[in-house]
Amino acid sequence: MDEGIIIKSLSGFYYVENENGVFQCRGRGLFRKQKIKPLVGDYVFFEAEQKEEGYIYEIKERRNEINRPPVANVDQALLVFSAEEPAFSTLLLDRFLVHMESLDIWPVIIINKFDLAAQKREQELLECQHDYQVMGYPFVFVSSKNNQGMEEIKPWLEQKVSIAAGQSGVGKSTLLNALDPSLELETAEISTHLGRGKHTTRHVELHSVHGGWVADTPGFSSLDFQAVHEEDLDVCFPEMKDRLAQCKFRGCTHRKEPGCAVKQAVEDENIPSYRYNHYLQFYEEIHAQRRY
Ligand code: GDP
Ligand code: ZN
Repeated sequence: MDEGIIIKSLSGFYYVENENGVFQCRGRGLFRKQKIKPLVGDYVFFEAEQKEEGYIYEIKERRNEINRPPVANVDQALLVFSAEEPAFSTLLLDRFLVHMESLDIWPVIIINKFDLAAQKREQELLECQHDYQVMGYPFVFVSSKNNQGMEEIKPWLEQKVSIAAGQSGVGKSTLLNALDPSLELETAEISTHLGRGKHTTRHVELHSVHGGWVADTPGFSSLDFQAVHEEDLDVCFPEMKDRLAQCKFRGCTHRKEPGCAVKQAVEDENIPSYRYNHYLQFYEEIHAQRRY
């Protein structure tokens, strides 16, 4: 039995890659009976029938599974924002971060279009960079259009399955093309030039890029918190997570309770107040959703 990873799924075939090449495989009939659908990103055991064909026998347990794009075992999300057009927002960044933390996907923060940042914005962004780096997140400035900053990102891709996430127009496709020109993704500029909207119905495929795998379909342009419970929200904020044990009450929600270590840290400016305010806002949002 051989092992490999599904890099593409098309017309009932799964394309499984390992060090010996790519094998066009079918899933065994049992999957259909058990309503198991192999996903791109699945690590599988397969039997090579011929040189380039085979049968998938078993899917290894998934670490996680996301819908947009449909990929299993995502290790890392490149959270792409632009300095301008659209302007960077910590509220949106924190939404993405909480979502990725809840899925156990390692987030890296990439601020694109740094070439467009005026001096004042640059100063604000540098302060944010400091805050997020203290929390433990990688945070870089790049300009995909000018191929600047790519060398910093490339080593992060090694041995990981990555997806790119972020609002439309921030430059996700341009960034992925800059990381690997062979991806040839359509960017807004090309589609405007050709007088059509960007393709949105593409099948997702994993590409081997700089020692890892990158999904060629950007995902998650907007999100809600369906999967997160309000009592688990605090652990999605790494700077709060370390302090929870010091709150006076077990199950402290860090809103109005006395003796709250999180509130104390905000007062002492060890937690940025905007992060705490986003925590309160998300808490209310999740709570309101769950009441119905
Ligand atoms: P996506 O919707 O996130 O995939 O964004 P695209 O990759 O299609 O890019 C949206 C627009 O931003 C295009 O017109 C790009 O040329 C432009 N763009 C992308 N990266 C940069 C950059 O680093 N600097 C500038 N000035 N424009 C960029
Ligand atoms: Zn507390």
